[in-house]
This record gives sequence, C-alpha cells and structure tokens, in this order.
Amino acid sequence: MAEDLKNAVLEQFCRIVGSAGLVTDAEEIAPSLVEWRGLYQGGAPASVAPADTAQAAAILRICRDQGIGVVPQGGNTGLAGGAIPHSTMERPQILVSSRRMNAIRELDPANYTITAEAGCILADLQQAAEAADRFFPLSLAAEGSCHLGGNISTNAGGTNVLRYGNTRDLVLGLEVVLPDGRVFEGLRGLRKDNAGYDLKQLFIGAEGTLGLITAATCKLFSRPRSLATALVVVADPDAAIALYSQARSALGDQLIAFELMNRLALDLVFRNITDTRDPFEKRHSWYVLMELGSAQADPMADQLMETFLADNIDSGLVRDGVLAQSSSQRDALWRVRHSISEAQKMAGAGIKHDISVPVSKVAIFLRRSEAFVSQRIPGVLVVAFGHLGDGNMHFNLNQPENMPADDFLALWSELSREVHSIASDLGGSFSAEHGVGTLKSDELVRLRGGVELALMRAVKEALDPDGIMNPGKIFGPS
Ligand code: FAD
Repeated sequence: MAEDLKNAVLEQFCRIVGSAGLVTDAEEIAPSLVEWRGLYQGGAPASVAPADTAQAAAILRICRDQGIGVVPQGGNTGLAGGAIPHSTMERPQILVSSRRMNAIRELDPANYTITAEAGCILADLQQAAEAADRFFPLSLAAEGSCHLGGNISTNAGGTNVLRYGNTRDLVLGLEVVLPDGRVFEGLRGLRKDNAGYDLKQLFIGAEGTLGLITAATCKLFSRPRSLATALVVVADPDAAIALYSQARSALGDQLIAFELMNRLALDLVFRNITDTRDPFEKRHSWYVLMELGSAQADPMADQLMETFLADNIDSGLVRDGVLAQSSSQRDALWRVRHSISEAQKMAGAGIKHDISVPVSKVAIFLRRSEAFVSQRIPGVLVVAFGHLGDGNMHFNLNQPENMPADDFLALWSELSREVHSIASDLGGSFSAEHGVGTLKSDELVRLRGGVELALMRAVKEALDPDGIMNPGKIFGPS
C-alpha cells in the first residue's frame, strides 16, 4: 500500500474513532505486537480501538474496501499467536483492539444474565456478577487482563469447565460486526431459541477469523455460598483418575475443579514466584487441586470435602492433603496453580502442548508422551499440569540444563507432531483450549484435514470472502 494511501486511510480511521482510539506510534504499539510468551513478533501500522459498535462497523467497512487485514485483539494473553498481526507492504494488517468497548450494558439478575462489551476484563465481569449476588464462572490465570471478546473467540476453558462448561456453554447471545461492516444482532438472553441455525456458535472459538465480536450476553449462576478447596497428594495420574471418578460419583455437580500438577510444575512455582510455598513437609510426585462449591452456607462444603478425603485416605487413593481453612489459604493454593505458566516462562525455553483426551486416557497419554520426549531429548524437563477433569493437559517441556535454548526450540515442531499424534491416536485433540492461531495451523491440516477442514474453509469463504479477518490464522498462510 502506497504511503500516501496509508495516510489517507489512517485519517479516515481517526475521523471515526478520534485520536483516543488510534495509535500509530511504533513504540506505543510495540507491546501489542508480541505474543505473551514472546513466540511471535508482529508488525502493524496502526492499532484502532473503536468506542462502540457503529465505529467498529465503519472501520471494518474501510478495511474491506481497502483490502486491509483486521486482527482483533483483546488482552493479548492468547497462547497460539492469534492476536498478533503480520502486516506487509503488499497486505497491510491493523490491530482492532477492544480496549475501549468495556461497558456492562445490562445485568439481569432474574434472568441470570449479563450483557457486556467485548473489551470487559474477565475479572471485572466476575466482580460485577458478585456485586449482584450472582456468579460468572469463567476463571483462568489471565483473568486480570484477558477480555470477554478474546475469551469467546478462543472458547476459553479454565478451571471451572468441569461444572459450568467452556465459554461456549456460557454464551447465550452475541453481537458481531461482519467483515463487510454489517452487524449480526444476536444479543438474546434466551435459554431456548430454535429459530433456525444457531449462528452465534460460528463466531465462538473462531479466533477472529469470521467477524469482530463487540458484545455478548452470558449466563450467570447462583453464587456458591461455601467453597472447599484441597490440595491432595496422589501416587500418579492413574490414581488421580481414580480419585476423579470417586469425586464425580460422591460429589456430583458440586465438584467445580479438579486440577492435576506434577512436582516439576510446583518446583518452578516455588522457585520463581514470590509468596508461594509448599504446604507439605515432604516432596511428592503428583498433586490434585480440587474444589467443590455448595449453594448452602458454611460449613456444608468443608464437611463434604472432609468426608470425601477421609474416605479416600482410607482407600489409599489420597496419600496426604491440606484443606484450606480460610479464603486466604484458598487463594494461596490457587495461586500455586495459576502461577505455573508464569513460572515456566521465567524458567527458560519452553515447548508447550495443550491437548485433550478422554479423561480415562490421560495417564496413558502422559506415559507415552513422556517416554517419547525423554528418549528423544535425554534430560528434558516435563512440566505436566492441567484440567484433569476436562481431560485437558498442558504437557510442557523445558530445556535440559546442558542444552542451548535455540537447539531445544528447533525441535518444537518435531516433538509436537509426535505428542499431538499420541493424543490424536487416543481420540484426543491437539488444541484443547488455546486455539489454533498461527502456532498450530499445520496441525489442523495434518490432523483435521478432509471433510472437516473443507467445511471450515467453506464457512470462512461464506462469511469473509475477501479474507480480511485475521489473515493466516487457523488456516495458515494462503
Ligand atoms: P487475545 O489474546 O487478545 O486474542 C485471542 C484470539 O481471539 C485472537 O485470535 C484474536 O484475534 C481473537 N479476538 C480477540 N478479541 C476478539 C474480538 N472482540 N472479536 C473477534 N476475535 C477476537 N486459556 C484457557 O482457555 N484456559 C486457561 O486456563 C488459560 N490460562 C492461561 C494462563 C495464562 C498465564 C495465560 C497468559 C493465558 C492463559 N490462557 C488460558 C490463554 C488466554 O488467556 C485465553 O485464550 C483468553 O481467552 C484470551 O483472551 P484475550 O482477551 O487475551 O485474547
């Protein structure tokens, strides 16, 4: 795009969003061009932040007319490179940020719904729900900075999926600006609505490739009046699966979270994150962080958890455990779990996997994958943790002490292909909750080619025939 045309377009953007909504200064844009782990470094001549849906629609219309790629960005905490633009002179791409669209439009306590704009920070939504004596259950370590639009576009999972489902299960309605600037007005707070195709589902988990989400109506739930949180020691992943099975049958829907972590994950946290400490005197190999919630007030949840743990200590499944006695102790236990990604980032070069398999296959997956990577890179450090109750493990690897980071990272693709194949052979997915983005587009072709990929391409072509929305993401470079 010629420089003068670029300036003319930037002026048009500025007329729409005002100077508060347009960033063109390279230094100011720079932090938005780097993926959270530093895996991708992008480029964009501008970051445009519309203040409302009409502005967003006007921006997209210009982009469509000018053939400019649109890369939506929320909190930029995504872990697949989906929010990073890769602008070139031939095919410019701009960031469209949701940062200024952060209003809560309506909270309807009787309908148990909240309608909020895409730029609402997840933690703010949780707090708004709590202030109305309601509960918004989506919870993940990045909740202090990720945005609702990003959560929906990645169909984020997190720690409460077991009880409340993925983001997809929480969304009742969506407002989306389509690539041609038209607005899909689907902000309905209905639990039942069988009027034709459920179009909102197309945009959930689409990673910004089909349209720009500007607002959503989400389900709220009753607030758990009492929570019980325990960190327990199990012998190995097989024991964790057996304990999970017991927990499901004994605690039913009151079981909210069931997270598995290996010792190395905890070591990284205790070494790198301040104000964290091991609550046990002895080191163990595997831990489960489990939480249950009860609609009744204290001490119902604690009693249930105590009985459950006592039964499973007797049966030998639980080898040791601590039960949080206060909300600060609960926070401390969750801080350990939520800090693993941050701690691993601080520990040097890491290769990450976000796979899912049926819960019953998690232990087999871990055994096979660990055997493979240890044979391929002797001394590799396996940091395994994740949402066991959802069959979703982050099977992450850190470089062995004696191996240069670059040599280690050069093996990413080779290792990932095999790990993903192991998951796939067990009936699993190479992308459980982080999406495909740029990172895994090759794997989509390899593991989901054929009819499934053809249908995805047909949807993309139907909604975004000019290919302006998040070019190259999910499907790879065209
Ligand atoms: P971004 O990173 O800004 O964008 C993500 C994708 O969504 C991009 O493709 C982008 O183009 C698209 N997008 C953003 N906004 C819009 C919009 N308005 N319209 C259309 N497309 C849009 N994820 C989990 O699922 N579970 C976890 O437990 C979890 N834990 C994490 C822990 C840490 C420490 C970190 C850093 C990340 C974690 N993540 C987790 C990943 C990440 O937080 C989620 O994917 C989150 O939903 C991304 O939200 P965001 O606002 O940061 O999106």
